[in-house]
Amino acid sequence: MKTKNLTILGATGSIGDNTLEVVRGNRDRLNVVGIAGNKNYQKLAKIADEFDVKNVGIYDEKTFNEAKESGLFKGRNLVLGAEGLTEIACLPEADTTVAAVVGTTALKPTLSAIEAGKDIALANKELLVMAGKFVMGSAKRKGVKMLPLDSEHNAIFQCLQGERKEDIAKLLITASGGMFRDYTPEQMLTITPEQALKHPNWNMGPKVTIDSSTLANKGLEVIEARWLFDVDADKIQVVVQKDSLVHSMVQFVDGSVVAHLSPPSMTFAISHSLLCPERGKNVREPIDFTKPFAIDFRPPNTELFPCLKHAFSALRAGGTATTVFNASNEVAVDYFIKGKLPWIKIATVVGKTLEATQAIDPQNLDEVLDADAEARVKASEIAQAIA
Ligand code: MG
Repeated sequence: MKTKNLTILGATGSIGDNTLEVVRGNRDRLNVVGIAGNKNYQKLAKIADEFDVKNVGIYDEKTFNEAKESGLFKGRNLVLGAEGLTEIACLPEADTTVAAVVGTTALKPTLSAIEAGKDIALANKELLVMAGKFVMGSAKRKGVKMLPLDSEHNAIFQCLQGERKEDIAKLLITASGGMFRDYTPEQMLTITPEQALKHPNWNMGPKVTIDSSTLANKGLEVIEARWLFDVDADKIQVVVQKDSLVHSMVQFVDGSVVAHLSPPSMTFAISHSLLCPERGKNVREPIDFTKPFAIDFRPPNTELFPCLKHAFSALRAGGTATTVFNASNEVAVDYFIKGKLPWIKIATVVGKTLEATQAIDPQNLDEVLDADAEARVKASEIAQAIA
């Protein structure tokens, strides 16, 4: 395989760390030509030095100016803001863009990268949840690969190799069940941000960790799966697998189930996503089958974790409903982190915002962004009213 040139949008976050770990172990086949981040310029400088990266993007303007003055980026092409990220994503020498920037910041650079013919290794959730129709549409038109980098979608992607779409009975997306899977409704009333920010299996950013605790994260993944694999909501099911060893499964029409297993580290999914159809060198200890262990499955309790139910209804409603799901959840999580909304009411804000909003079939990205902005205002009103 020829060396693949990568750009990493979101190089300083946890996906960035794991991606760079995979690159370190596979230097003969992976090369980094551009990185971008938001505020941690010291870390960007370290990465640029270690991987000899010529192009560096910084989203935040104040950080950009500090970075420039620091002298840490001498001889490198330092670029600013959304345009800077787009320039990095579209570098002529790049083959694949790792889209790991969080939030809507990723929309424009990633869509531009698709238009420039770059394959996308996708870690950002908003791209498909908000703009699945446009993202998958232009990927198809441009013939670029959408390589799922999230562990669940990468697992399904691996299970589907060589299979026909019409043979899929169910995509079985696994969930750890989050921190509070064994909590009683009474215990749920007093959950604090400190409790919700600890995840038993995965080391991730704060927003994703809270989303795991409410299963909103799984809801977002269900919506992403619909777009990535082009199946309806009825063919997607969530299964709780508390140790995060089975990363997802596919049940076929003949009743067979194919599963993907690895330890709970993002490096396995990232390695597959960046190097498929080949396999890269393993950078972490694999599962040890010389020792006994059990895997247990159970269905999720959507009465105690209603965010999952809301995600399915948004997906069935279609159009901008999934944008509303995402936006209202972000607002509710923000209120929770600031101590202004109880954990248990995150789902209430999401449900009520969905009820109060009329979904439309968006004709362009601006209509999606409008729906997003409107939902945020609505969710904020609701959060204040019910807190
Ligand atoms: Mg995941």
